[in-house]
Amino acid sequence: MAKPHMPKLDPRRRKIKILATIGPASRDPDMLRRLWRAGADAFRINLSHGDHETHAAAIAAIRALERELGRPIAILCDLQGPKLRVGTFKGGEARIPHGARFTLDRNETPGDETRVFLPHPELFAVLGKGQRLLINDGKIRLRVEKASPQAIVCTAEIGGVISDKKGVNVPDAEVPIPALTDKDRRDLAFALEHGADWIGLSFVQRPDDLAEARKLMNGKGALCAKIEKPMAVTRLDEILELADGVMVARGDLGVELNPEEVPPLQKRIVLAARSLGKPVIVATQMLESMIESPQPTRAEVSDVANAVYDGADAVMLSAETAAGMWPEESVAMMDRIAVQVENDESYGARVHFHQTIPDTTTADAISHACMTIAETLPIKAVVVFTDSGSTARRVARERPKTPLMVLTPSTRTARRATLLWGAHAVTTRDIGSFEEMVAKGKRMALRHGFAEADSRLIMVAGVPFGVPGATNLLHVVRLSGDELEGHYAEAPPADRTG
Ligand code: PGA
Ligand code: MN
Repeated sequence: MAKPHMPKLDPRRRKIKILATIGPASRDPDMLRRLWRAGADAFRINLSHGDHETHAAAIAAIRALERELGRPIAILCDLQGPKLRVGTFKGGEARIPHGARFTLDRNETPGDETRVFLPHPELFAVLGKGQRLLINDGKIRLRVEKASPQAIVCTAEIGGVISDKKGVNVPDAEVPIPALTDKDRRDLAFALEHGADWIGLSFVQRPDDLAEARKLMNGKGALCAKIEKPMAVTRLDEILELADGVMVARGDLGVELNPEEVPPLQKRIVLAARSLGKPVIVATQMLESMIESPQPTRAEVSDVANAVYDGADAVMLSAETAAGMWPEESVAMMDRIAVQVENDESYGARVHFHQTIPDTTTADAISHACMTIAETLPIKAVVVFTDSGSTARRVARERPKTPLMVLTPSTRTARRATLLWGAHAVTTRDIGSFEEMVAKGKRMALRHGFAEADSRLIMVAGVPFGVPGATNLLHVVRLSGDELEGHYAEAPPADRTG
């Protein structure tokens, strides 16, 4: 809530956003506040872990923080998806020798070094000779020799210790199970009921998976497709078309594929999402060593930096902030890396390495014109008035050097935009006239630290005001000295967040 005489709010010093997963190490209100101050723009709740009660308390704490700060914060609820697992073992574990024969079957009795129960009947029909089964994040590699409805007989190309309920990846097969398990359906209902802004859909294989989730979401929340299956990679364009955003989920992707296939794919996915103007999050193991150490490895720093140079919308922290010893330091480190890269003089050229071609729409023509104007005039910020957020996404897609303010009457649009590259979103009452637009744009740019005396701003909106989907107005304004004076003393304009 805006208060009279409020201090100027400092915007972030970077365009890329930071998504921090919360968990036991970070879900209490004080740590959430510290993470936000260190640079976390949005929070992820991983529904693979924890119970609804704990998650509900965390969501309430984030919303309370949002009110305290007067800044929108997105919550991404990540569904576990159809994670496949083996059954149990006599004594909890077994050691499969390299080169040995190992069978997965329908027999529920505890397994040993020759066999184990596989509680997924669908798999027996789709796996065939030559295909791989990867167990425990790929530490054990089995190759199918023979598959029948009762047993999948394999050779252990890489053996090792296998224990109860370890995860199984089947990268070579399209698994005929829905992207949403019964648990996912319960978790999804919970997440939407608690106002999740983004839903993460795990192990997406087909466009139909997204359609199914979308139907259950019933217009609530935005849908983020996690790309972590080879099948999703082969149908990337169709999947991107149906999603609101994507995550390069490198954890599972690097198991399902060879790890060396992930970096080129990351670049491809980032580029494809960028050209559609849909937020893309680069995720997993970004500062992995910071789970235990206050200092990351040089390679991790380089990895984060490269995602920034690629122009991703957001970088994500997983266990680093959810369960690590240095959650605040991890966020601060990511922030520092991003600031350093974005201030590198080669950053602009690198981020624009691939040209963004405007669609033949008024919104894109105007978004593109903002860039051209900002090259001619010293523009301090582009101020976009938007309901749905679509204009903001089109402007952000151009990756402008100029700061981007997103003024919206919709709390949901503002929150969602916290994962959008460069967007500084503010929830504010709808405007009714051109004069009101100009006045509000100036006032907000001043208050949020994007403008000072003599600053020029670009304003983008649609007239008639209040009718969505009609971006057709671009206006360049200049602030005069008197507009500055008395600004902080005046009664607050209608500015609400939360
Ligand atoms: P997860 O997804 O953390 O839910 O597994 C991210 C990934 O696989 O990279
Ligand atoms: Mn995953």
